[in-house]
Amino acid sequence: METAIEKLKSLKIKVTRSRVELLKFLMDNKGHFTAEDIFKRLQAQYPNLNLASVYNNLNLFDEHGMIRRLYTHREKAVWDADARAHAHFVCDVCGEIFDLDLPLIPEKYYLKYSGSFKVSHEEIIFRGICNKCAKKENI
Ligand SMILES: [Zn+2]
Ligand SMILES: [Zn+2]
Repeated sequence: METAIEKLKSLKIKVTRSRVELLKFLMDNKGHFTAEDIFKRLQAQYPNLNLASVYNNLNLFDEHGMIRRLYTHREKAVWDADARAHAHFVCDVCGEIFDLDLPLIPEKYYLKYSGSFKVSHEEIIFRGICNKCAKKENI
């Protein structure tokens, strides 16, 4: 598998320690994270890291299609380490985000429904209560 450094080089992104650490984290930890989540987890191994560079580099990786920003109606941006199109379920109680294995709308329909808009991507987010929270609350 391509290493973080190789990946940055292949995309012509300047290799810096904070980019390598961030990309390694995203490659090793598939999931959904805020910049703060990642910052906290990386600080132990890389104390010189700063939060602003985590923010900037997440945006940079997003521009290169390496990760994907999720619009979950949470206050903070949530980033998905998996940039491929996939649907999500968000628990309204604990806020946990789950990947769903669902067929997505074929791209040919984007044009049909978007009229004069230019669609960049689709976003499918189901909301509700996860099993764990449902059990706790006896729903
Ligand atoms: Zn929950
Ligand atoms: Zn996801």
